[in-house]
Amino acid sequence: MEKIRVIVPCYNEEESIPFYYKEMCLVMEKMDFVSFELLFVNDGSKDKTLDLLRDLAKNDQRVRYLSFSRNFGKEAAILAGLQYATGDYVTLMDADLQDPPAKLWEMYELLIKENLDVVGLKSNNHKNYGFVRKFFTACYYKIIGFVSTTPMEPNERDYRLMKRQVVDAVLSLTEYNRYSKGLFNFVGFDVKWISYDAPNRVAGKTKWSFKNLFSYAIDGIVGFSTRPLVLSSFVGILFCFVAFLMILLIIFKTILWGDPVSGWPSLACIIIFVSGVQLFFLGVIGEYLSKIYLETKNRPIYIIKETEKDKN
Ligand code: UDP
Ligand code: MG
Repeated sequence: MEKIRVIVPCYNEEESIPFYYKEMCLVMEKMDFVSFELLFVNDGSKDKTLDLLRDLAKNDQRVRYLSFSRNFGKEAAILAGLQYATGDYVTLMDADLQDPPAKLWEMYELLIKENLDVVGLKSNNHKNYGFVRKFFTACYYKIIGFVSTTPMEPNERDYRLMKRQVVDAVLSLTEYNRYSKGLFNFVGFDVKWISYDAPNRVAGKTKWSFKNLFSYAIDGIVGFSTRPLVLSSFVGILFCFVAFLMILLIIFKTILWGDPVSGWPSLACIIIFVSGVQLFFLGVIGEYLSKIYLETKNRPIYIIKETEKDKN
């Protein structure tokens, strides 16, 4: 029998997990032609998530869990899940039922029928997100679409069913600053998407603050494009050209009309503007430098404190 490993990152999901597990049990019952393993990754939750996972693992052989020593972020949880999940097929699902387990059958059938490597879900709607988040998401994907050669789309969920070979390919990308959306698209393979209407979160609250999303967005751009660095050279050349024209203009003006002392406000504006541009690009270089700094430190991406084996 073929095996599907389901990775579920959980951060403070005590309210969602019971719903998720119930729904997943129904799916496992229906899809009795494959064997399942649920691998929950507790990303340093501060609520009862870990207790729930301990109970589930005790009562159900198919449930395993990894528990981090603190909150390392969803990317770290995904990586740990991929590294620990064995089996022919691996899938990622959120614990809040926004990635409906019921879709798994359809995904599996499509994967087998068309001999694909990955089947993922694309949400038609973001109705559960506020106007501000929708607006910034749209702007972000415009920018990353322009600067990066790796295609990325706003509606692609992390919910995808992958063959072993794809998982191994993703794991072969060993970078510290992980941006899954980019990593999955970077490895390529035959991918098909199924569209669906993403439901609202079954319980609890979203774990992504604006600050988290912003720094995740920067990770995406810095991790998958070096164009912002090239842009600084272009802007530099443009400014040199403008400066050259202005020098010519001033020389002619002085020859024709003399040099009365005036124009300091415009000079001050130019100095402030150019310093601003310089500092901005220094910041861009700093972003890349800080990522290199983190890469070279070679710190572990996550630390596991407990697994189901420690308790049984
Ligand atoms: N999550 C995680 N670590 C974090 C933040 C989120 O493991 O630091 C998990 C969370 O428990 C959920 C999934 O990632 O299973 C998606 O999070 P959420 O639903 O809050 O994000 P949204 O759907 O709002 O983008
Ligand atoms: Mg969610």
